[in-house]
Amino acid sequence: MTSDTKLYHAPAAAPDTAWQADVRAGVRHVRDLDRLPLSPAERAATQAAAANHKVRVPKAYLDLIDWNDPADPIRAQVIPSPDELVKTEGELDDPIADHEFSPVPRLTHRHADRVLLFPTYQCAVYCRFCFRKESLTAIGRGYTREALEPALAYIAEHPEIREVILTGGDPLSLPDKALVEIRARIEAIPHVRLLRIHTRVSVALPSRITPGLVEALQGRPMVTIVTHFNHPREITDATEAACRTLRQAGFVLLNQSVLLKGVNDTIEVLEELCRELMYRLGVKPYYLHHGDLARGMAHRRTTIAQGQALAGALRARLSGICNPVYVLDLPEGGGKVPIGPCYVEAREGENWRLRGLDGQARKYTEIVGE
Ligand code: SF4
Repeated sequence: MTSDTKLYHAPAAAPDTAWQADVRAGVRHVRDLDRLPLSPAERAATQAAAANHKVRVPKAYLDLIDWNDPADPIRAQVIPSPDELVKTEGELDDPIADHEFSPVPRLTHRHADRVLLFPTYQCAVYCRFCFRKESLTAIGRGYTREALEPALAYIAEHPEIREVILTGGDPLSLPDKALVEIRARIEAIPHVRLLRIHTRVSVALPSRITPGLVEALQGRPMVTIVTHFNHPREITDATEAACRTLRQAGFVLLNQSVLLKGVNDTIEVLEELCRELMYRLGVKPYYLHHGDLARGMAHRRTTIAQGQALAGALRARLSGICNPVYVLDLPEGGGKVPIGPCYVEAREGENWRLRGLDGQARKYTEIVGE
């Protein structure tokens, strides 16, 4: 596709420096934690935890933190906690078996019609709850054309692959030039119909959503951007503007959240998050993930029963379009399965007993023509 056939035309080019300045002004190294208003004890514990998982927080996201609140939900997502040093049996380096299902480097093929492609193992923000933190630390490399060649060849050789999911690391942390290259290589593979991009930049670095980025992503395949908002305080004028730019470019916007103890594990927070995502940002709440078995994250996981109670309350309060599906990404590559409350209470032949959203059970008899 030539630039003339693109749906969106960038205004006269302004250099993409605002987002780079935002990254530079934030926390980029463990030593930058010294600038934050932490107590000496907190600082020591935080630096120990940071040795296990990288630290990076753009200034825009740092500015959302209320430093007077030690339990601030924004802080909890990005500032290392000494609780991360607690080792809990059963936690895993690779909770959903990305590596086991990786036939070539930088690609995971778990389901027939789609693959995960990892153009980079670097991110604009490092989230403490990340289930890929081991890969980000152990592999840790950025994008090079050469590194992606085996994965692109694999996709070209497998006509059953219809969706390519760019994930990470954060693909939108790459410069526009790299995104243009990656998108062009993927769209040259005729059986790929959909390009999905999983990103935190629309939340933590909204200045990265520029006309140049939009133009870099536009091409033949349908583009879906999956954002990652976890708390209503992440929804600001800046993130609203970023999502508007993506929407106006014609991309489909979905959101996945992770259920995190102390961050968003109340019905009030989740309800506000889902409503504001849909009503203000035009982003469909897609998944609410139960916490994966990532190492050092026991302090942020809820029980499944708690998650089911929250998912049930959301179902009762919100319209279908505002409701995410509560899922668990199974270990050993079993895939994402819905684990929300079950509304089927009993069945006898064609007679079903189902619980309504008002909590009352009702009978439903199937009537099916011959
Ligand atoms: S941006 Fe995504 S891949 Fe990067 S640390 Fe956060 S959750 Fe993990």
